[in-house]
Amino acid sequence: MRAIRNEADLDSLSVPNKYKKLGDFHKYYAGEKKAPILTLVIGGNHEASNFMWELYYGGWLAPNIYYLGAAGCVEVAGLTIAACSGIYNARHYKCGRFERQPYSRDDVRSVYHVRQFDVTKLGLLRHPDIFLSHDWPNGVEQYGDVPNLLRRKPFFRDEVLSFSLGSPPLQALLRDLKPRFWFSAHLHVRFAATVTHGVPPCGLVSFQNTNPEALPLDDDDDEFGENDTSENPPHGCTTEFLALGKCGVKNEYLHLTWLQFIDISAPEDHMHQTEKDGERPEISLRFHRDWLSITRATHKYFSLQRHDSCLQSLQHEKLRANVQKERAEVDYMVQAKGSDCLDVRKVQSFTRTAPTQGELQVWSENRCPYIFNNPQTEAFCELVQIPNLINTQHLSTQSLHRSRNISAQSLEPNTSTATNATDVATEIAQIRAAALDRKRKRKPASVHAIPGTDTQ
Ligand SMILES: [Zn+2]
Repeated sequence: MRAIRNEADLDSLSVPNKYKKLGDFHKYYAGEKKAPILTLVIGGNHEASNFMWELYYGGWLAPNIYYLGAAGCVEVAGLTIAACSGIYNARHYKCGRFERQPYSRDDVRSVYHVRQFDVTKLGLLRHPDIFLSHDWPNGVEQYGDVPNLLRRKPFFRDEVLSFSLGSPPLQALLRDLKPRFWFSAHLHVRFAATVTHGVPPCGLVSFQNTNPEALPLDDDDDEFGENDTSENPPHGCTTEFLALGKCGVKNEYLHLTWLQFIDISAPEDHMHQTEKDGERPEISLRFHRDWLSITRATHKYFSLQRHDSCLQSLQHEKLRANVQKERAEVDYMVQAKGSDCLDVRKVQSFTRTAPTQGELQVWSENRCPYIFNNPQTEAFCELVQIPNLINTQHLSTQSLHRSRNISAQSLEPNTSTATNATDVATEIAQIRAAALDRKRKRKPASVHAIPGTDTQ
């Protein structure tokens, strides 16, 4: 399911026009439906990238549906779950987050590409229990039944033989973090593998690695944490990898052959025992102290420019030392505020920023480049004590304040939403006109994707 709140979000989706459909998520966003259990979400390559960007550090997409951000790490019932959204593309890997809304035709395709900055942050974690990624770690298929995979997906053959299937940065993370479980998607095929760390794979092409970007999975001479393996699991430990196939609907029946339940034991004392009147117990969802420390330590290298050279000159040992220093600050903060400050539900609450599909008509008859400073991102940045750079340069504080009021008021039946909505729509229209003007001054090829003007 794609997190598309309303039809305006479709402009930030990178799919052919015939696939630009609203789907079901907008009902969860509007409160017409609610996910029955805590559901963790990562982004792929066909998302409403404007919404994903709003919650760059993670946040509630809808009640009970939590997005883990471009990169993130949380504790669920005591299990550490790390995640990397998007897919790998070497062209943008070392770039900053340069894309601006409304996205140009090029930007809408690069905005979901994984960045080195986020991978470096994830590489500073220590042995999460579970890792979630959209694309597969490069070379992971070598630890499973390669002939069977090629029988089902023969067009993977060239990539498998050239050792170029999957993402090289994720391969490095798999090798370094050695999580107990790793779950992926993207290639639309169910595939399981058991990676034994420190042991060469016995797949089809394990010794024919010709991909210059790929790193040998059993090579420990790495750039991430070679000198800090004391808390990592020993050689020979395993990661269970599972990629899920695509959920399809045929003849109105949902095909569930892709579905798999995995029972992973969690520390019981992390469960909130709130079961009453037949309600499910609420599973605890907490920020991970190491991740908060890493976010603090790396923020100064976060770039909104295309050319991001800051990280490349950075020494890993220095970065890790900074993380240790910030960890002391995080511990001090938790001590001062109490451990509730790590409770995600207490720090971030689901807040609508964009109008629901039903409210869209009230806002404006024309599609606008809705750009929001999400209060959940504000709350996260306040917790971590870093400045919020996500969308804060686009709208004035006054406008943002009014936008939020409209979102809140529009949930009430008797309010003056329409008047305020007109004000904001006017202001957004002015911003849109300025954006259009900027686009016109650029080269013609990037003009097409202004929302509302794309005629393809
Ligand atoms: Zn995909």
